Amino acid sequence: MKTVFLDRDGVINCNRENDYVKSWSEFEFLPRSVEAIRLLTHAGYQLIVVTNQACINKRILSPKTLNVIHRNMLAEIEDTGGRIRAVYYCPHRDDENCMCRKPKPGMLLQAASEHKIDIASTYLIGDSNRDIQAGNEFGVCSLLVLTGNGYKSNLTANTGAASRMQPQGVFENLHAAAEWIVSSSTDA
Ligand SMILES: [Mg+2]
Ligand SMILES: [Zn+2]
Repeated sequence: MKTVFLDRDGVINCNRENDYVKSWSEFEFLPRSVEAIRLLTHAGYQLIVVTNQACINKRILSPKTLNVIHRNMLAEIEDTGGRIRAVYYCPHRDDENCMCRKPKPGMLLQAASEHKIDIASTYLIGDSNRDIQAGNEFGVCSLLVLTGNGYKSNLTANTGAASRMQPQGVFENLHAAAEWIVSSSTDA
C-alpha cells in the first residue's frame, strides 16, 4: 500500500517547549493537521505514526498514559473522517542506543514487517533532522514541515554526513505537505 509515515510532535500536535506531552490535556492538534490526515486517508494512503518518546524510559510518562493519549488522538481523527492504521513509539533514551529511536529506521522497518508498504509510493513527514534521516535511510521520500522544530532544522547543510538529513521537500505544515503528496500521486 502507498503509505505516509508521520512523526507526531511538531507535525500532528504542538511541541511543548522543553517538555513532553504528558497527558491528553497537554495534547494540542496543530492547525489543519486533522484535516490533512483526512485528505491523505481519502486519497488512499495508509498512515502510520512513528514517534520518539524518551519520556517513557525517563519515567516522566507511563506507557499506560501514552496509550490513553494515542487512543484519544485516534478517536478525534476518526471522528473527522481520517484514519491512522498504527502508532509506533520508541520509549528509549538517547543513551540506551536502541535500534528504534530516530534517526535510526527501526520503527519503519518494524512497520514494514507488519504492514504492506509499497516503498516506491511512500513518504515520511517530520519536523526534525532525525525524522528526515530515518526516512532517507529507509529509502522513502522524506518531507520536512516547518511547524514544531522545523524552523530550527538546518536546511542549508548538504555536504557529507549532513546530506542524509536533506529533505526532498519543505512545507509550511502537514496540510501543505499532504496537498502536495495528493496532487503528485500518479494513480489519482
Ligand atoms: Mg517531531
Ligand atoms: Zn528505541
